[in-house]
Amino acid sequence: MPAPRVRIAPSPTGPLHIGTARTALFNYLYARRTGGTFVLRLEDTDVVRSTVGFEADILDQLHWLGLTWDEGPDAAGGDDRGPFAPYRQMQRLDSYAAAAADLLARDLAYPCFCTPDELEADRKASEAAHLPPKYIGRCSALTVDERADRVAKGLPGALRFRVRADKIRFDDLVRGEVEIDTANLGGDFVIVRGNGTPLYHFTVVVDDAAMEITHIIRGEDHLSNTPKHILLFQALGHEVPKFAHLPLILNPDRTKMSKRKSQTAIADYRAQGFVPEAMVNFLSLLGWSIGTEEEILTLDELAGRFDLEHVQKGGAVFDKDRLEWLNGQWIRKLSSEELIERLLPFLEADRQAGRIDRVPAPEELRPLVPIIQERLPTLGAIGELIGFLWVDHVTLDPSMLVPKRWDRATALAGLRAARETINDSVGAVTFEADALEPPMRALAESSGWKAGDLFMAIRVAVTGRTATPPLFDSLVALGRDRVLERLDAAISTLAGVEDAA
Ligand code: GLU
Repeated sequence: MPAPRVRIAPSPTGPLHIGTARTALFNYLYARRTGGTFVLRLEDTDVVRSTVGFEADILDQLHWLGLTWDEGPDAAGGDDRGPFAPYRQMQRLDSYAAAAADLLARDLAYPCFCTPDELEADRKASEAAHLPPKYIGRCSALTVDERADRVAKGLPGALRFRVRADKIRFDDLVRGEVEIDTANLGGDFVIVRGNGTPLYHFTVVVDDAAMEITHIIRGEDHLSNTPKHILLFQALGHEVPKFAHLPLILNPDRTKMSKRKSQTAIADYRAQGFVPEAMVNFLSLLGWSIGTEEEILTLDELAGRFDLEHVQKGGAVFDKDRLEWLNGQWIRKLSSEELIERLLPFLEADRQAGRIDRVPAPEELRPLVPIIQERLPTLGAIGELIGFLWVDHVTLDPSMLVPKRWDRATALAGLRAARETINDSVGAVTFEADALEPPMRALAESSGWKAGDLFMAIRVAVTGRTATPPLFDSLVALGRDRVLERLDAAISTLAGVEDAA
C-alpha cells in the first residue's frame, strides 16, 4: 500500500468555517498518523465570490490552529509548494479542458444546447408531476449534423456527462457500505458551462486524480456528490480513491450548523480569545472519540491516536460549553510568560475600544497570574475580569454600591468604616491580603454586618463590578493609595445621592 495522500480543498468564498477546519484537522491527523501526505488545494473557480482576503483568512487560521500541509500554497496569493503545483484551480484550467476534450472524444460527455428557458420549463414540468428534477436528455442523442447546426447558430454548448444506469456502491470508511442508484442523480450533469467554466464535480475529480489522492475525507454534505465523482473517476480511467464522510456538525437543536444559529468562523473564536490548543482539541472531538475517558489532548497526541474507525456516523453537536471548558483548561496549562504574551493583544484591544485607559507592562501582569489564570474562560475576558486595574476612574452606579440586604445609610457607614480601618491599620508596606482580611472581618463582626455584604460594597466601590477575583487580592493589586482614593470617590457618590434624596 502506498502512503496515503489526503487533501483539504476549501473554496476561498468565505472565512475559514468550523466545518472546514474540522475536515482539515481530520485529514491532517490521518496523514500524520499514517505517514501520509496532506495537500491543501484552493478551489477558486467561483471567481465572483472568491477573494484573496478569504484565501488569506483560510491559510492564516489553519496556521494558527497549528495545521501544516505538505503541498499547496503557503501564503495567500503566494507560490505553491509540491510536485503537483499549481494547487489553485484557476491555474489548472488547461487540465480541465484537456480532460473535457477527452471525455467528449470518447462520447462519455456531450455538448448540450438547452437554453435556460427550456431547462426551467423541464424543471416546472417535473415539479408538476411531483418528480425530482432531472435532465431529460434532450441533447444526449444529437447527431453530428445537429450539433454542428447549433454551433453554427452561435448557441453556447455546455458539456454534460453521461450518467449510466447503474448502482454505485462504495465502502465508506465511516459509514460502511453505501449504495446509490444513478437514477437518483438528476440525469446527465453539466461538467463545463457554456462559457467554458468547469464545474465543481468535474474539477474536484480531475484534481484528485492528478494529485493522486488516495483517501477523500470530507463532510457528509458531500455524500450525495460521491456517486457522481466515482463515475467521473472511472470515466477518466483513474482508480477510485477511498471515501470517509465525516458526520455533520449540528447546532444544539440538532439542525445543521449554520451561521444564523452558531458562530461559524474560526477567526471569531480566535478574536474572542479561544486558544488554538483548545480549538484543535474541541474540533478533534466533533465526531471522533478517543475510546477512553481522556479529554485533553495536544495536536501531537491526537496525531498519534487518530483513526477513522472511531469517527461516528451520527451528527456531532457543537457544544459551546464544552469548548469554553476546554479553553479554560488549556489557559490553565499555559506558563505565566505564555499567558502574559497571549493576553497583551487583548488588553491592547480593550484599550483601543476605551474599556481600559492603559495596557499594563508584562511585569505588572506577572504577579496577577495566580489570581486570573483559573478564572479566564477566554483570553478576551481579561478586561472584564481585572480591567478595573487599568482604568483611571471607575464609573459607579450608586445603586450597585448598596448590597441587597443593606440600605443606603448602611452602605455609606460600611464604606466609611472600611476606609478608616484600612487607613489606620494597614500601611503601604504591609498592604497584603493576609494583613487586610482580619481587620475587615473584625469590622464586620463588631458592627453586626455580614462580612459578605461589607465585602460586596467594598468590591463595587473599588472595581465598579460585583464579580472580581478574590477581594483582598484585588485590593492588593490596586495598591493602597488607589483603594483609598476609590473608597473616597464611592463615599462621596453615595453621600451625594443621599443628600439629593
Ligand atoms: N471545495 C469543496 C468544499 O469546500 C471541496 C469539497 C471536497 O472536499 O470534495 O466544500
